[in-house]
Amino acid sequence: MSSIPIARPSIGEEEIRAVEAVLRSGMLVQGEEVARFEDEFSAYIGAGAGVAVSNGTVALDLALKGLSLEQGSEVITPAFTFIATANAALYQGLRPRFADVDPRTFNLDPEDLAERITPRTKAVIGVHLYGQPFDLDAVSEICEDRGLFLIEDCAQAHGAELNGRKVGSYATGCFSFYPTKNMTTGEGGMITTDDPELGIRLRLLRNHGDLGKYNHVVLGYNYRMTNIQGALGLVQLKRLEEFIRQREKNAQALDRGLKVEGITTPYKAPGARHVYNQYVVRVEDEFPFGREELMARLQKAGIATAVHYPKPVYEQPLYRELGLNRGVSCPVAEEVSARVMSLPVYPDLSDDDLSRIIHTMNAMGA
Ligand SMILES: *Cc1c(COP(=O)(O)O)cnc(C)c1O
Repeated sequence: MSSIPIARPSIGEEEIRAVEAVLRSGMLVQGEEVARFEDEFSAYIGAGAGVAVSNGTVALDLALKGLSLEQGSEVITPAFTFIATANAALYQGLRPRFADVDPRTFNLDPEDLAERITPRTKAVIGVHLYGQPFDLDAVSEICEDRGLFLIEDCAQAHGAELNGRKVGSYATGCFSFYPTKNMTTGEGGMITTDDPELGIRLRLLRNHGDLGKYNHVVLGYNYRMTNIQGALGLVQLKRLEEFIRQREKNAQALDRGLKVEGITTPYKAPGARHVYNQYVVRVEDEFPFGREELMARLQKAGIATAVHYPKPVYEQPLYRELGLNRGVSCPVAEEVSARVMSLPVYPDLSDDDLSRIIHTMNAMGA
């Protein structure tokens, strides 16, 4: 029996043909495919413009740089996320601060966020973790009241919606097209914004601050996307709704099938379209053995799992080394990082794969 990986991108003949066409054209970087990908992706999200970049990490980096915050200003991110979210602040000489998350959605807890704001706080980066929107209404309101910029980390949430509106259209959206995400360009990223001036500034920063013909007006970077990525992205975007529907179907099958005491299946918030970039269960104390043992047994049964993420960001060695863990306590983030386990949910899982995951889990809990 073959093993089931934790994630696998769906790449078809059309993607291969699209990449081949770019290679044959000789126009490899930042051309027509990238411009079309920006237009089509931002239209899908419902944002005024898209700025394509080389990956999701630099999307966050640029989005934050685009705000021109004073050095040392504080940026609040959830304590429970991928490290890139908080690193964006460090890249810009800003101070990451951490807010706790909700134990059911694993997303920013708005009340806790409000309490962590200080006079030095200038921006909030919310994360739509695993593909579920964070409470955009509450968080946007807090940011408006307190005069803070809001950035949405949408790396795991292409197509996710809250009350019919897509994430990445509420504030500055940062997307990733890494192979484990809901659509891929290999490496790749996109910033979505409704602010035309910010769009212009981000385009400048992406390409060495060049207004054209080697006229460099600001300190920029090379964060460009290749046409190979753009062409891949155009095809993947066309297929995104199909990918999401398949993920939703797989998640439903797991929700219905997993009947084990001590395994809590994902919670879906009212009004949310959860796009299940990860299908994450909580392993509770009632389960007959601990999470690491469960993962080892599943691995033996040919089912890969993962922990997204094993510790709060402030407990990472880098953050401890920088002293950014001092006096920080996010009890929910600490609890959930010890309990969460991701199961395979990618679009190309077969019905047999799903039954195998369900039956293996149910048998282990029995
Ligand atoms: C993947 C991811 C990123 C970074 O994207 P890359 O394209 O890998 O640089 C940032 N934030 C979150 C929440 C992610 O999952």
